[in-house]
Amino acid sequence: MVKAIVGANWGDEGKGKITDMLAAESDIVIRFQGGANAGHTIINNYGKFALHTLPSGVFYSHVTNIIGNGVALNIPVLFKELQSLEERGVPHPHLLISDRAQMVMPYHILFDQYEEERLGGKSFGSTKSGIAPFYSDKYAKIGFQVSELFMDEADLREKLERVCETKNVLLRDLYHKPELDPGELYNTLMEYKAMVEPYVADTSAYLWEAVQQGKEILLEGQLGSLKDPDHGIYPMVTSSSTLAAYGAVGAGLPPYEIKKVIVVCKAYSSAVGAGAFVSEIFGDEADELRRRGGDGGEYGATTGRPRRMGWFDVVASRYGCRIQGATDVAFTVLDVLGYLDEIPVCTGYEIDGKVVTDFPTTRLLEKAKPVIETLPGWKCDIRGIKKYEDLPENCRKYIEFVEEKLGFPITMVSNGPGREDIIYR
Ligand code: GDP
Repeated sequence: MVKAIVGANWGDEGKGKITDMLAAESDIVIRFQGGANAGHTIINNYGKFALHTLPSGVFYSHVTNIIGNGVALNIPVLFKELQSLEERGVPHPHLLISDRAQMVMPYHILFDQYEEERLGGKSFGSTKSGIAPFYSDKYAKIGFQVSELFMDEADLREKLERVCETKNVLLRDLYHKPELDPGELYNTLMEYKAMVEPYVADTSAYLWEAVQQGKEILLEGQLGSLKDPDHGIYPMVTSSSTLAAYGAVGAGLPPYEIKKVIVVCKAYSSAVGAGAFVSEIFGDEADELRRRGGDGGEYGATTGRPRRMGWFDVVASRYGCRIQGATDVAFTVLDVLGYLDEIPVCTGYEIDGKVVTDFPTTRLLEKAKPVIETLPGWKCDIRGIKKYEDLPENCRKYIEFVEEKLGFPITMVSNGPGREDIIYR
């Protein structure tokens, strides 16, 4: 069966933890979009890891991990990650890289930095990992597929020259930065080739076979619904689709094979980068939630930057679940809220004097003010609890309130960062 694990919110919902947990009973874990611009934090018996590019199944020797064609493949980052696993005693994972995946080129990272510099205060808050320039080039049809590393030298050199010609106009005349040398890029690509060669495969053919054999397959999403370029808070979004539906495209699987869509939804809100964030809180209230949040505070797994904090947002999360097509909701980091006397929840948006509960487009979202309802807290530590009935009554009431408002079943409650911190309902 194919299951997708995706985010309901702005990312950082705890998808890595849920994937690592479900990978125990899976044969294959696939990354199908995004790149090294976000990290999945995983805590298991090997320690704490922030994976940026590797699928979260790499800690199990029975799992085949696939980097799908939809990913922005940063080869040096991938190999650094593989090396860091090895250094920490994790057995070398089974890894396949799609021959159709495209590569983040060194200049994509430069263009990302230069553009943020040029935009100054009006920047998108990019992590400067080259993701937007990468996907722009992919759709402009001037990207480089892994398969192209294996083409004739003359043809590859010719393509590099052609691409550098246009890039150099921008570098020279817009950014006033050093120009690209196609010969140097060719050498870099040959280094990449040597690195990836043992892993390259026709992964969609592999997956087709796996589906026929009834294997358990997990699609691991990056970021969340609200960062989707079509359905999110455009333009403050990422450059590849964050939706489960895209899993079919980004992995090369039949769409009808995705039978379960597990949408990971966090018990409060956090976001990185710019953009409207209706339930955002500030000052001491935000600092305390940030300090207590996640595992060791809400700071970016890739950048270390403090995340923006807010209360649970019913409007955004219900929309996030709907647009993903949730069959199950995994409600995470609930343990963090145990310090609060009362828990505010954003249940509506007031826009131009009217209360709405459907998530609006960006222009309207920017005008939205949160409508807050308050629930009583449970004032204790719920980590270690294994059964739903053993949760404090106010904690169950919070979960049931959220579930009712979402309109999708919460089938898993995560009450700690570890693999075993999970309550099934
Ligand atoms: P992802 O990108 O969706 O995988 O999320 P991140 O890894 O960026 O952020 C989630 C953070 O919350 C990580 O530090 C996790 O270890 C942590 N985490 C996940 N689930 C839980 C939970 O139920 N409770 C607590 N306290 N932390 C959690």
